[in-house]
Amino acid sequence: MQTLHASKCGLSTAQLPSYILDVIDALTKAGFEAYIVGGGVRDLMLGLNPKDFDAVTNATPAQVKEVFGRRCRIIGRRFELAHVYSGRELVEVATFRAPPKKAVTSASGMILRDNNWGTIEQDFARRDFSINAMYYQPRKGIVLDFCHAIDDIKNKTLRLLGDPTLRFEEDPVRMLRTLRFAAKLNFSIAPDILEVFTPEMTQLLRDISPHRLYDESQKLFTMGHLNRVLPMLIDFDIWRQLFADIDPEISTFIERAAINTDQRIQIGKTINPAFFYAVLLWKPFLERCEFYLNKGIVAAEARAQAGLDVLKRQATRTIIPRFAETFIREVWEMQTRLLSPKPQQIQALSTHARFRAGFDFLLLREKSGDHSTQGMGTWWDAYQLMSTDEKERAISQYNRQRAKSRRKVQTDDVVEPKSVSVEIEPLVQETAPRSRRERSRDRSKPERPVQMVTSGGAEIRADHPILKRKRVKRDLNQVVFGPTQ
Ligand code: ATP
Ligand code: MG
Repeated sequence: MQTLHASKCGLSTAQLPSYILDVIDALTKAGFEAYIVGGGVRDLMLGLNPKDFDAVTNATPAQVKEVFGRRCRIIGRRFELAHVYSGRELVEVATFRAPPKKAVTSASGMILRDNNWGTIEQDFARRDFSINAMYYQPRKGIVLDFCHAIDDIKNKTLRLLGDPTLRFEEDPVRMLRTLRFAAKLNFSIAPDILEVFTPEMTQLLRDISPHRLYDESQKLFTMGHLNRVLPMLIDFDIWRQLFADIDPEISTFIERAAINTDQRIQIGKTINPAFFYAVLLWKPFLERCEFYLNKGIVAAEARAQAGLDVLKRQATRTIIPRFAETFIREVWEMQTRLLSPKPQQIQALSTHARFRAGFDFLLLREKSGDHSTQGMGTWWDAYQLMSTDEKERAISQYNRQRAKSRRKVQTDDVVEPKSVSVEIEPLVQETAPRSRRERSRDRSKPERPVQMVTSGGAEIRADHPILKRKRVKRDLNQVVFGPTQ
């Protein structure tokens, strides 16, 4: 173990937010050891802006709770931690961990429970990469480096502590972390990791809960180097584990969306990771729509069912939370609304809560060479910058063109209401009831069968409810066009 001078590593208390210093000070004052560890130390040493600061201590979670009282909550079962609220920030305070006892690892060596407290040396050996295992005591101005991590920082190398095979078997998520840090820090991966990072090894990710994999996928999407990590996910065969039904290829659309996401993060804009899921799953969604349309199902119903199917399949790998799933389906549904809006609804659409995301998605498709958007991305782009008069003129012009093209195309699968309406119908219908009362009420009803089949796969049963609605031929004489006609 070597003790480094923090100042020589480019570290100083001036870089630290008061919330983390408060936590370290309170623990020290109560007679415990306390350090900043992990990504915060690593990123500061690399001159990057840390996402957060994690603390580690020899106090057990219960003792941390005693120190901070109501500001502290103990969370986690597999990996018990203290969450300490310091000002408006939340700091994760972990307790030094010893190796897990034999009884709490699975047959494949995966750690199932990890709450065996230990010494700082034991804690160090339990961490993943050397660069994530430096212990910074800001008040003493020292960094404890047990494994020459400082050399790996200088050489920009990602090195796992211990035997890479064992470390991946213990926790297969470390494979994802390897790619995430390599991409984020632009580090090379040590040869002994590369040697064992095989497609067979990635199979171990099957044992990881889809909830945890969703969290990890979010971290991949939001780290600011999504575009760099995507090809790595394919090369290392991680893609197939995360996104079973998405072809492992980076289309122009996906690439543009990734670049866009990274740029937004760089300039400090918020991003919604669900947006990138909407991009990734767009092609499977379209294929599934096609599948239902070929069965003669009305377009709106086909889209609704296709959205549910695709998300249900994806949930076998990463469980996207319900609110994010709804967001994704709404973005997809917006594509149809934005592509051929009813003229009288244009203004209302442009102020809809999901307009921005839907429009961004449409424009990205268009800029990636998707001609099926029929230039509507550009149209909406221009529309938003227009004055009220210009908007009215643009709508009339759009309306005339729409009428002309409709006269040409005599068949359509959309039946429009006769009344002039500016109300936007809900973009998607919620699927399962959320409240317990609703659930028990619905239990008496027969469940709606959803056939999970891969694109072009098995048949839908004849009694499937969506087959009851047939495509309706539109009678042009009955269609009332917008008020400017
Ligand atoms: P960032 O927060 O920038 O994504 P980080 O390195 O801080 O990166 P966290 O997930 O916040 O990552 O974890 C904090 C620290 O806990 C890590 O630096 C590492 O030392 C340890 N750690 C986290 N996950 C694992 C794991 N799966 N195996 C071993 N150690 C881990
Ligand atoms: Mg962290």
